[in-house]
Amino acid sequence: MNIQQNVALKTFNTLGVNAFAEYMTQVSSIDALKEVIEYASDSNLPIKVLGGGSNVVLANEVSGLVLQYTNDSLEMLSEDEEYVLVRVGAGLNWHEWVMSSLSKGWFGLQNLAYIPGLVGAAPVQNIGAYGVEVKSVIRLVRGVMLDTGEEFELSNEACQFAYRESIFKHELNEKVLITSVDFRLSKTPQVDVSYAPLDQMAKEQGMPTPLTLANWVIEVRKSKLPSPDILPNAGSFFKNPVITFQQFDRLSEQFDHVPSYPQKEGVKVPAGWLIDQMGFKGKSFGPVSVHKQQALVLINEGGSGEDVLAAAQQIKQAVFDRYGIAIEQEPRIFQ
Ligand code: FAD
Ligand code: NAP
Repeated sequence: MNIQQNVALKTFNTLGVNAFAEYMTQVSSIDALKEVIEYASDSNLPIKVLGGGSNVVLANEVSGLVLQYTNDSLEMLSEDEEYVLVRVGAGLNWHEWVMSSLSKGWFGLQNLAYIPGLVGAAPVQNIGAYGVEVKSVIRLVRGVMLDTGEEFELSNEACQFAYRESIFKHELNEKVLITSVDFRLSKTPQVDVSYAPLDQMAKEQGMPTPLTLANWVIEVRKSKLPSPDILPNAGSFFKNPVITFQQFDRLSEQFDHVPSYPQKEGVKVPAGWLIDQMGFKGKSFGPVSVHKQQALVLINEGGSGEDVLAAAQQIKQAVFDRYGIAIEQEPRIFQ
């Protein structure tokens, strides 16, 4: 067990917050994980599970033990003519997994290319992009309970996946470490180009193969989203609100051309549009600013986690005051 004290976390979070972990360790096997859990329990240290740090806001001093699981194994569990079932270690880089699955002729992850982070975090917020959510290909999530070290497995249904949601943000919030995810991928190429930029490219260049589609997604993302290496950010800072049909009718009476995407449970309104309409693109809140091209992204230039949360709070309040809509923040807070 190699547990380090007072570890700088600046390179472990894409917002570039200059935080420190009271203790930190990385492990790559379930046995080692259980040892660390026992040690943390004996030492009364709360465990904070960190993946790639692309969806977290860190406090300056993160108390307890920051734990990163680095196992990046890939195991074929079964295969038939139509599907493969593959178990992937939680420590594998997400984008690397997407591209390696496509290179093997396993399809389903192409719209989710170029999302930062590790495989283990994908079920936590049921990552989604360009009309596809990871829940559509997850069969099983395996992990370890942080209080007892006991292993568990959860079926897709038991994960309670919803729009950027799962049981891991609620009942099991901060209670588990996900060690692997089982994916069921198709051997039959299918593509979803329902989002406008992809639809446009398909009209110009013809229907893509899944690999071409992944490359289109990478191209569009590179052109629209700031790279955290250059402008530290955590992707979309706010979730798109899903409001009731009545709320949407009232909103459309007050404001012209509100973009909307009807869902089963209500109407999804892009949070980026709400923020943009207030003229917030490029606006600074101390060291934190709204990205010039993408109103959902907050850029942190040297600020603390508190600075980021303070900026987010002002934006949330302004949206609420103007539209009466409460937008929720997406990244998780580490204290
Ligand atoms: P972290 O940020 O390290 O952790 C996030 C949460 O998951 C924390 O609560 C953490 O405790 C928990 N967690 C992490 N690993 C585990 C584990 N093994 N077991 C249990 N809990 C764990 N998200 C999307 O959904 N769609 C996008 O298109 C998208 N694009 C992005 C673009 C950019 C430029 C950036 C910076 C972020 C983007 N995100 C997107 C957000 C983020 O990349 C994803 O949510 C990603 O899954 C987070 O992975 P991570 O490993 O960095 O998790
Ligand atoms: P975009 O294409 O400019 O669209 C703006 C918003 O409208 C998105 O949030 C998207 O919702 C919604 N939308 C667009 N077309 C839609 C359709 N046909 N059906 C339903 N909803 C639609 O978005 P973008 O900012 O460039 O991002 C592209 C994709 O990458 C989105 O899916 C977005 O979620 C994802 N992304 C996520 C993060 C993150 O950190 N979570 C960061 C960057 C990009 P959805 O967000 O629900 O798809």
